[in-house]
Amino acid sequence: MGATIKTDVVIVGAGPTGLSLACQLVRHGVGFVVVEKNEGVTPYSKAIGVHARTLEIYEQLGLAREAVERGTVAGKVRLLSGGEVRGEFDLSEVGEGLSPYPYVLMLEQSKNERLLYGYLKSHGRDVLWNTALESFSQTEEGVTAFVKTADGESQTVEARYLVGCDGAKSPVRHALGLAFEGSTFERTFYVADAQVDWRFAHDALTVSLSKETFVVFFPLKGERRYRVVGVFPEEFAKDEGEVLYEEIEARVKAEAEIDLDIHDVEWFSTYKVHTRHVESFAAGRCFLAGDAAHIHSPAGAQGMNTGIQDAYNLAWKLALVLKGSAAEGLLDTYNEERLENAKNLLRTTDRMFQLAAGPEWLLSFVRTNVFPAVAGYLFSLDSVKRFVFPLVSQIGINYRHGSLSRHEGDGDFKVKAGDRMPYFKVEGESVYDRLRGPKFHLLGFTDERGAVRMSDAGAEGKYADLVDCQTLPLSGQAAEAFGTDGPFQVLLRPDNYVGHISAGASTGGWEAYLDDLCRPSGR
Ligand SMILES: Cc1cc2nc3c(=O)[nH]c(=O)nc-3n(C[C@H](O)[C@H](O)[C@H](O)COP(=O)(O)OP(=O)(O)OC[C@H]3O[C@@H](n4cnc5c(N)ncnc54)[C@H](O)[C@@H]3O)c2cc1C
Repeated sequence: MGATIKTDVVIVGAGPTGLSLACQLVRHGVGFVVVEKNEGVTPYSKAIGVHARTLEIYEQLGLAREAVERGTVAGKVRLLSGGEVRGEFDLSEVGEGLSPYPYVLMLEQSKNERLLYGYLKSHGRDVLWNTALESFSQTEEGVTAFVKTADGESQTVEARYLVGCDGAKSPVRHALGLAFEGSTFERTFYVADAQVDWRFAHDALTVSLSKETFVVFFPLKGERRYRVVGVFPEEFAKDEGEVLYEEIEARVKAEAEIDLDIHDVEWFSTYKVHTRHVESFAAGRCFLAGDAAHIHSPAGAQGMNTGIQDAYNLAWKLALVLKGSAAEGLLDTYNEERLENAKNLLRTTDRMFQLAAGPEWLLSFVRTNVFPAVAGYLFSLDSVKRFVFPLVSQIGINYRHGSLSRHEGDGDFKVKAGDRMPYFKVEGESVYDRLRGPKFHLLGFTDERGAVRMSDAGAEGKYADLVDCQTLPLSGQAAEAFGTDGPFQVLLRPDNYVGHISAGASTGGWEAYLDDLCRPSGR
């Protein structure tokens, strides 16, 4: 048995969620150990849709540009029915003005994991590969994890907290005895990454709708490379893992009703769709994040993105508590905020999934007749873009109902406490360029007379080490985003959600907010 490792946080699992949590803890200067039973990051492409909110988080890690360069922007949607093109819609700027990343990026999970792992390595950190969690116990003071390496050596890790980022079958969730209720869709999905030769250009996310179901071709980086996803019919009786690739190819050809040739298959898989969430994201000093806490249909490509955001939400809270800057109660807001998000997500993805794959005759009629006919109208409507993009891209997630959102003062604004900091430009640059530090941000938006000056407002006092204070011009874009034309100030949490917002320059509101949230533990 090796010497006991002592650390602040033990992370179980180095998928996208565990790696993201580790990267965020590096940003916040918190100690951690990641244990992963596999020998390295996944070699499989798995998730491919990377949404705007994830790219905004990557931007803070300095990874967004590389992610975009390595991936493909889904610039267009092409709808096929009966093998014929029924419509083409431009998506390249669908979220224009709402995010610096107004699109969906196609970047395989394996490449996301490599990016995140690269960040860890470049900061002198690593993962304990080939090391599986065997068991753990917790007391009021901490957690003890017992892990075993592939060559059978046992090791003990003592930490203040444990986070199970250990996937859908989560041993941590099982050990904690937390229920994971929901349902399983009867039909089997297939997925294959391959080269597709057909008459269409490699420039669009192509959806082929049929009476029974659908096939989607997602363009990937590389000549004519696609991710192909579809569903077997109800009568298809094979279990996951028993399906031969030839059966998938036959299915694609039958469903798409197009003359196409599929070859150079790099990866294929089949799976059943489950929709489940855990009853609580936390139990004592242990937390769950990512697939360990919620799984859902692939509609909307939300899984990996949601795990990355769970990690983002938890990291700053762990950091403040571990540094003694906040009471442990702050950690309760992780379950409060992310459980509500998971419930909403399951409802939305279930609805999308039923429309895309539901077998009823009415859905089949909508899929093949109504949807292609109205899609152009839908995609062209600005208001729909503004509703659909925030929902799918996850920039619309808010924590308005959470206890960290103080609403006194926000009645005069379009942006409410609990909303993500809206995107706009300040002096030609993204406002997010000023919000990269792992701190609270107190922003005073001032008119030309300098009605709100942060230094005058005394923000450099007792919270100087926790809060970054900036005075910004009250430009037209800022006024439009917040729905006001007078000076105001916003206190952003370290994850850039609005904690408090008020007109004028008084210090009372935001100071009281921080007094409550950051009351040091034990003092
Ligand atoms: C075909 C397919 C397509 C998908 N498409 C999308 C998409 O387009 N967009 C999207 O957002 N999501 C998509 N998803 C979902 C996405 O892949 C998952 O949501 C994502 O992998 C979850 O990441 P995670 O880190 O939470 O869990 P995982 O990726 O499952 O990682 C968990 C890790 O924990 C490790 N582990 C488990 N037990 C132990 C133990 N005892 N000790 C140590 N380590 C352990 C595992 O080895 C694993 O590496 C797709 C999934 C599939 C299968």
